[in-house]
Amino acid sequence: MVDKVSVHGGHSGEFCSHAKDPLEAVVAEYVRQGFVWIALTEHMASSDAFLAVEELAHGFDEAEAFHRFEHYFEEARRLQSAYADDIDIMVAFETEAYSGYQTEVAALVEEFHPDYLVGSVHHVNDVPFDASPGDYLDAVAKAGGMAAMYCDYFDLQLELIDAFRPAVVGHFDLIRIHDGDYAQTLQDPNVWERAARNLERIAELDLILDFNVRALAKGQPEPYVSEPLLRLAKELGIVCVPGDDSHGTATVGAGMAEGIAVLIEAGFDTDWPKPDVMQHSR
Ligand SMILES: [Zn+2]
Ligand SMILES: [Zn+2]
Repeated sequence: MVDKVSVHGGHSGEFCSHAKDPLEAVVAEYVRQGFVWIALTEHMASSDAFLAVEELAHGFDEAEAFHRFEHYFEEARRLQSAYADDIDIMVAFETEAYSGYQTEVAALVEEFHPDYLVGSVHHVNDVPFDASPGDYLDAVAKAGGMAAMYCDYFDLQLELIDAFRPAVVGHFDLIRIHDGDYAQTLQDPNVWERAARNLERIAELDLILDFNVRALAKGQPEPYVSEPLLRLAKELGIVCVPGDDSHGTATVGAGMAEGIAVLIEAGFDTDWPKPDVMQHSR
């Protein structure tokens, strides 16, 4: 029997404006479903210019976002101990890659000592692209075309990987999210070359790919990483581990069985290694 794990999970309504439920309820649901280990990977606190619309709607500013993030770490560490007999919890966070992220991520790492980072890109040229098709079109326009946007995304992802060597690379090809012809776009030679280059870098650095099954819950035909890239990742010997990217109790474990079946079919080892925990100097 294959262990249920999640390298990228545990967003909650308590600490994220587009998720639901208290973090403890989310953790309890992982326990109920028999997960062996998980990482809580809340989104980093964003600076004012990059707060999400739903955060602005809550009247948030960056000071409040930071304060909430501080509480996230306290609560996540409390749950890590409180549930230690039931489940192995790591306390991580998910990055952004907007202008100025390098300084902000470094400061948050220094302050909160996460167990690891999920390196994710949700902005291209500072335009957030994943929340809605309208945002996506804005990002395409800013980049000067669909393939150009994918290229910018993968260039930014490489920069993030080189800057932080995140133990887990989040939803590798999220950039395809609102592209109905993504299989085609990924085959564009300029796009493919960059995606392949990033996978080679991930292999060299021995980072883990988040096999993000939330894609299925959001109506995508397949998880991130899509099939041709997954095949290349396998050839390169990259480790792929499932992430449910849960955003509330209802999405804990959603798509996990289908995702694990895809990984087995593609020949990946299901003896999932845990991400390396960062060493912090005090
Ligand atoms: Zn989220
Ligand atoms: Zn994400």
